[in-house]
Amino acid sequence: PNILEVNQLCKSYGNFHALQNASFTIGEGESVAIVGESGSGKSTLAKCLLRLEDTSEGTALYRGKDLLSLKDKELLKIRRDIQMVFQDPTQSLNPRMSIFDLISEAFVIHPDILPKSQWKSRVAELLEQVGLSAQHMSRYPHQFSGGQRQRIAIARALALEPKLIVCDEAVSALDVSIQAQVINLLTDLQQKLGISYLFIAHDLPLVRDFAHRVIVMRGGRIVEQGTVEQIFEHP
Ligand code: ADP
Ligand code: ADP
Repeated sequence: PNILEVNQLCKSYGNFHALQNASFTIGEGESVAIVGESGSGKSTLAKCLLRLEDTSEGTALYRGKDLLSLKDKELLKIRRDIQMVFQDPTQSLNPRMSIFDLISEAFVIHPDILPKSQWKSRVAELLEQVGLSAQHMSRYPHQFSGGQRQRIAIARALALEPKLIVCDEAVSALDVSIQAQVINLLTDLQQKLGISYLFIAHDLPLVRDFAHRVIVMRGGRIVEQGTVEQIFEHP
């Protein structure tokens, strides 16, 4: 079954077509990469799916429900299932909040997830899941390297037990060796937790060992999609 089915998605800014008739699917537990040059419409696509932008046309079915037409209450529920990790974790990690506060914020916003008595042990577990020591939870984001901050952003996303994580250039700003480590972490989480990914990158080689399928975008359109083998054999 598919976790996501995007059909004929379009987005215009005035007369400019940033996204034209994008259609693709993501299977349950699958990693799908979107690659394309800067300005090809990758972020626009992600923002439309997360309803950070209004869409001009099309549908996006998450487990059969159209994300683009859901009303507030149902959308709030599904928002938990679909988390986003951005290129620059400093954008999503408030520098004045400790790692504990940043990760447990999910439990403040969604009080039904976990009783307060269990927050600390759950934050410790989440930190360990992303390869960080639980002892780090009283520190602040600036005390960590870029790669570690991205791990914290991933732990924060995991707190909500997402089914799909949208990574928008989530490793692009990191050193190559650190990129590989974060990608290994994502693969590991996929195998352990069954998470699906929509992984946005401008670099095709980066997704080679991670993605099951690749979508290539150019000028707001999907110009090619296929398995990693297909895309790499016929570039
Ligand atoms: P990518 O993520 O592939 O770099 P984007 O989706 O960010 O591409 O942008 C696609 C195109 O849409 C670019 O030409 C960009 O300038 C344009 N665009 C993005 N957001 C807006 C906006 N809010 N208003 C006008 N044009 C925009
Ligand atoms: P990226 O390439 O990482 O997707 P951009 O630098 O293209 O990011 O865009 C950063 C922000 O500016 C986004 O929120 C995007 O929607 C907005 N933006 C991009 N291009 C334009 C534009 N031509 N007019 C207005 N806003 C834009």
